[in-house]
Amino acid sequence: MAANYKLELVGVLGHPVAENPTCVMQEAAFAVLGLPWRYLTMDVAPADLADAIRGVRALGMQGVNLTIPHKVAVLPLLDEVSPDAARIGAVNTVRRDGRRLIGENTDGKGFLRGLRLEAGLDPAGRNVLLLGAGGAARAIAFELAAAGVKRLAIVNRGAERGAALCEDLKRRAGLSARFELWSGVCKVGAEVDILVNCTSIGLFPNVAETPPADLQEARPDLLVCDVVPNPAETGFIKAARARGLRTLTGLPMLVCQGVIGFEMWTGRPAPEAAMRAALAKAFE
Ligand code: NDP
Repeated sequence: MAANYKLELVGVLGHPVAENPTCVMQEAAFAVLGLPWRYLTMDVAPADLADAIRGVRALGMQGVNLTIPHKVAVLPLLDEVSPDAARIGAVNTVRRDGRRLIGENTDGKGFLRGLRLEAGLDPAGRNVLLLGAGGAARAIAFELAAAGVKRLAIVNRGAERGAALCEDLKRRAGLSARFELWSGVCKVGAEVDILVNCTSIGLFPNVAETPPADLQEARPDLLVCDVVPNPAETGFIKAARARGLRTLTGLPMLVCQGVIGFEMWTGRPAPEAAMRAALAKAFE
């Protein structure tokens, strides 16, 4: 048999990026399936992004993930952007189709998959409150709109970003979301079914910080979710558990968007359990 030493390459472009754990789960998946693929963690300064994308093309890479600060800046550098990613206005995954590079957004899809699989909850007909209006919140809000959420409220510290998300949801997804300025403590009423922290509050190393939210009036079956994946159990999640509420950590979202990316790139079913185990171990 002819030898084949060629590797297929994927990876992540970010700045800073050294603490991004995605390589752990993707490399675990390649190892489990014995695929000659590698996932590279690459620090790319904003001024170098266009060159980096040219490099992705020239090296024949199968795709890349984009993380802070490249998710929006990458859009004009691609051959095509999927309708979902265009609605969100950000790309977190690039896949190759022949010579074309196509932008996708799997953040919100990962969250919803985690919500359905881990928490056993379908957001259709539910009342959801999102804390935050940044990239993660945008991706989740548009997926919730597509999934037929009943009511959506966006609570954000900055008025401009929060109001812009609500306007975009109305214009691009036909969903009337309510914006509320986050000053002081956010009261979570009994009408809310699902509460999601989409801010970076509590993210390592700032593990002592928690989003100021008052759960006093929350319904007993409220599901409290956090998108922050590190630490695996944030102060927000711990506080909700201490009240006896159901919770969903940021880990399922991270694993699920990795699963979607893996399947897009390789065309094979992802070994989800191995990916989850590898990440959980990395966060220990
Ligand atoms: P952005 O910078 O785009 O948005 C950050 C959001 O957090 C904004 O709404 C911002 O409010 C808010 N925020 C930050 N600090 C504070 C604070 N002290 N008080 C109130 N609000 C605050 O970040 P992303 O949306 O890209 O990322 C957010 C989080 O999501 C990160 O922790 C990231 O790790 C996580 N994430 C997790 C994923 C997963 O797979 N689990 C995938 C993607 C992201 P304002 O607009 O007022 O500045």
